[in-house]
Amino acid sequence: MKNLVLAGVAVALVLPVMAEARIDVTRSANGWVLSNGLIEASFSYNEPGTFQFDSLRSLVWGDVWKAPENVISSPIRFATTGTAVDAYIPLRFISESTQQIDRRGTRLSLVFDQNDGGFRIFLNLELFEDQPVLRYSVRVRNTLERERHVRMADMLSWNFAEPRGNSFRAMRVNQWSVLPPLKNFEPKESMLADDATPLIVRSGAGEPECAWIAVRDSRDRGLVAGWEFDGRAEATAQRIADEGRLRLSAQVSDLNRLLAPGDEFQVPAGFIGLFHGNWDEAGFRTQRFVEAVLAKPLPDTAKFPYVVWDSWAYQTRINEALLRRNAEIAAKAGVEMFIVDLGWAKQIGEWRDDPAKFPSGLRALSDYVHSLGMKFGLHIAFAEAAAESAVVREHPDWVATEPYQYFGAKPLCLSHKPVQEWVIAELLRVIDEFGVDWVLQDGEHIVKQCTRTDHTHDPADSNYSNAVDGLNSVLDAVQKQRPNVSWENCANGGSMMTFNMVRYYVTSITNDASGALGSRQSVYGATYPFPPRYTDRYMPENGSNTYQTRSYMFGGPWIMMNKLESLEAADLALATSEIRVYKNLRGQVKDSQVFHLTEMPREGAVDAIQGYLASADTSTIVVTREMAPESNYLLKPQGLRPEGNYRVRFQDDRRIYMMTGEQLMRDGVRVQLPEAQSAEIVYLEPADTPFGGLNLE
Ligand SMILES: [Zn+2]
Repeated sequence: MKNLVLAGVAVALVLPVMAEARIDVTRSANGWVLSNGLIEASFSYNEPGTFQFDSLRSLVWGDVWKAPENVISSPIRFATTGTAVDAYIPLRFISESTQQIDRRGTRLSLVFDQNDGGFRIFLNLELFEDQPVLRYSVRVRNTLERERHVRMADMLSWNFAEPRGNSFRAMRVNQWSVLPPLKNFEPKESMLADDATPLIVRSGAGEPECAWIAVRDSRDRGLVAGWEFDGRAEATAQRIADEGRLRLSAQVSDLNRLLAPGDEFQVPAGFIGLFHGNWDEAGFRTQRFVEAVLAKPLPDTAKFPYVVWDSWAYQTRINEALLRRNAEIAAKAGVEMFIVDLGWAKQIGEWRDDPAKFPSGLRALSDYVHSLGMKFGLHIAFAEAAAESAVVREHPDWVATEPYQYFGAKPLCLSHKPVQEWVIAELLRVIDEFGVDWVLQDGEHIVKQCTRTDHTHDPADSNYSNAVDGLNSVLDAVQKQRPNVSWENCANGGSMMTFNMVRYYVTSITNDASGALGSRQSVYGATYPFPPRYTDRYMPENGSNTYQTRSYMFGGPWIMMNKLESLEAADLALATSEIRVYKNLRGQVKDSQVFHLTEMPREGAVDAIQGYLASADTSTIVVTREMAPESNYLLKPQGLRPEGNYRVRFQDDRRIYMMTGEQLMRDGVRVQLPEAQSAEIVYLEPADTPFGGLNLE
């Protein structure tokens, strides 16, 4: 290791750049150390000019992830036609700075020039209070006097030494897909082969998997990683035993970014974090980071996730009178938001209310919904338009080359500037004209494929361009101008489960009204990478029993998709009381650590999912019998204080127990599930007096 080579910058050996009280960026003799008391990330810069990652260290568990002995690792990795810029390309150090950033973070910004002068490279490294996670991003500027194309960009360029005798398991989770083979957030665990065979994760709009991977070794030292990109990407985890390394990578697919002289390119950001333990622990560390740092803030800290009603039970056969009747019933039952789904407009792409369905206008319905004390949500598939709509008739050239049709409509190319301007203006008008509080985004894959040569984007750069220049620009523009409107991510279900998505949307659908069992299955898998609020669920059933209602209680907004005006009085009474139950537990679940106490829900079994809220030491556990032969279940919760005393109570069963955490976790407590399909909610609350298993009833 040689001393740091500085170009035109004053040298100080130790430069404690204090931003937040608890986050330090320290200058070592030849590099930088970032620390927040939980994690320490070390990088160095050595002659003849290589910038490299040295180690990630847990200051809590003592785990150390070092760079490999014989391979240089750097988060800077991209390529143009003919030139790769990676750890082995000499860089000239230009400058550094640190600053406090939002969400209780500190950013170290480093600037380098490629030695032969092709690119200026801006690297950001960020730590946040209380999070054992490093977030990073790379931006590059073309400093040549000629055009170049960026053909590869790695959002997850990390190499770690692999201790001898080690083995690695990896975990990733499917998205939702209705195309065969059907996917519904199945978690997938596998060993990494030692012959460098990559484990592949394909993420982004319409792809099979969520933009997340977790890896842990035989001693339960773990890494979690995510990338903030909505377009298609291919990530890999490889164990290259003969080089003694574990390699991670996540590349933007089909990248072909034209950079004119002086142009810049932003590699989508990524994060890598540490955990120690099982996959629930991997999920917990990811989720807390997402909530603390990335996610769109909650629209309402007291009431979110909302109880919602959505009109899709009627499909497009909706009208003013019908919706008013449903709104009255919904408000009385305790629903907080009323969504008008597809079918309100004249046609897809013609976002004017249909006067035949709404003789008084959609605004009158929105006003009525507001007068009942509910928020008003509206479905809009803003990147789709029917062939007969005015926009397509006037601008047939705005249609993207993507071949699918959403309810017969054509896809619009959001990265074509005129389309973008039209969509932004339409969204602003629709929000204002109809008093919209909540946008239910829908459509087919929201990141389109478009290879047209007459659009403002490069036809060969469709994927990145439609994601970043297209979708993200539209969301940026509309959300900046209408900051109080919340957005729900949906594209025929949860098929864009990325860590860029969480920055724009307050929730996401998981599957698309797939019924009680399907709902619990999706929540089971999605609550590994994503916080519980990013699993909203559409309930197509009437909600005639608590098996149905409770299959939708754990997660984000509970969205009823039934015909309220045709429900029996008994069903309505049940819905009303179950809504009260949900409102009492939602605040606990949203910030809780999720324990997946059973295998993924399936027919013939009992499934149980626990939310443990550390700040209150309380647990909310939903236990469901799905045609299992046995009528009770021995519940063994996790994460409790062994010596703590807990009151155990049930939503239905009138027994109350007092048990220690150790008794609960070791011996368990019996949950009664009398019907073949039935569900119970178990609450654990800290209690002062020990009663050791005494039944107080
Ligand atoms: Zn296009």
